[in-house]
Amino acid sequence: MKRNYTGCAICDSTWGDVWEEVDGERMFFCCATCAVQFRRLVGRIREATGWPLIEALEIGGDRRGRSWEARTGSATARGRVSFTAEGEILRFEASGQT
Ligand SMILES: [Zn+2]
Repeated sequence: MKRNYTGCAICDSTWGDVWEEVDGERMFFCCATCAVQFRRLVGRIREATGWPLIEALEIGGDRRGRSWEARTGSATARGRVSFTAEGEILRFEASGQT
């Protein structure tokens, strides 16, 4: 999966040392909470779009609220997400799937 961050897949931090496999790919996270957040987000985007695989995922914003944009083939979906302190999804919006 292509990501826009070179650091942690959720928050772009470069400190920390958590590696977890997501969709068969080893990804870097700054902490276990971000790893949970990423997993939950990928799961919800898959549910919302019906895509079996997300080819690219861009994340913006900060911990108060993040935006996401996912692409697979020529299709794009975007929305917003926020998480609880434990990394579970608090709010999830998917808008504009093209
Ligand atoms: Zn992080």
